[in-house]
Amino acid sequence: MRLRICHLYGNLLNTYGDNGNLLMLQYCAREKGVDFETEIISLDQPFDPNKYDLVFFGGGQDYEQFIVSKDIQAKAAGIKAYIENDGVLLAICGGYQLLGHYYMDASGNKISGISALDHYTLSQDNNRFIGDITIRSEEFNETYEGFENHNGRTFLGENMRPLGKVEKGMGNNGEDKTEGARYKNVFCSYFHGPLLVRNIHLANRIVDMAIAQHNKKLEK
Ligand code: GLN
Repeated sequence: MRLRICHLYGNLLNTYGDNGNLLMLQYCAREKGVDFETEIISLDQPFDPNKYDLVFFGGGQDYEQFIVSKDIQAKAAGIKAYIENDGVLLAICGGYQLLGHYYMDASGNKISGISALDHYTLSQDNNRFIGDITIRSEEFNETYEGFENHNGRTFLGENMRPLGKVEKGMGNNGEDKTEGARYKNVFCSYFHGPLLVRNIHLANRIVDMAIAQHNKKLEK
């Protein structure tokens, strides 16, 4: 088996060691005896929703996010089709924000997302949520440890559930105790540094889901 991994805008959105998530996914796949190939899909390149078993979308500074927000509109239909088709996707921070409706950056500019997921992100004045964070996933009965660093304050819509409930730290918005998002086979989080290296149980779960999706496609 050969898993096909897409690193969305991997040359632009890769801040605070987010690429470590990719290394961790590849490590877990290798441990399971599964081969993989990784492809960066970036500016002016089409996103084929049928090509991949796993998509990783990292975070970045407002400057890169602005550039990506313009380009990603042309990929919106493909990314939405991939998600609705139960595609496995992990998005961190800036990538997470761009999958939602919009993101107000630290200078007050409204950056359009693609509304693949039902959430939006506001900014906060002269403040960032920075520090260690612990969340509890009721869905998987697991605890995830990490480090968050974001200006954005994200609010989830009705069809979305959080990745976990904040036990320590700020999470999505510092108000409602949610952190990250879950929808179908999509995982979103503000954890940097990177999320999966500190939470191998989550890395293994995501790789298992990608393998299952790969096999499901072969059966069709
Ligand atoms: N620029 C966004 C924010 O500050 C995302 C940052 C990031 O991906 N770390 O909220």
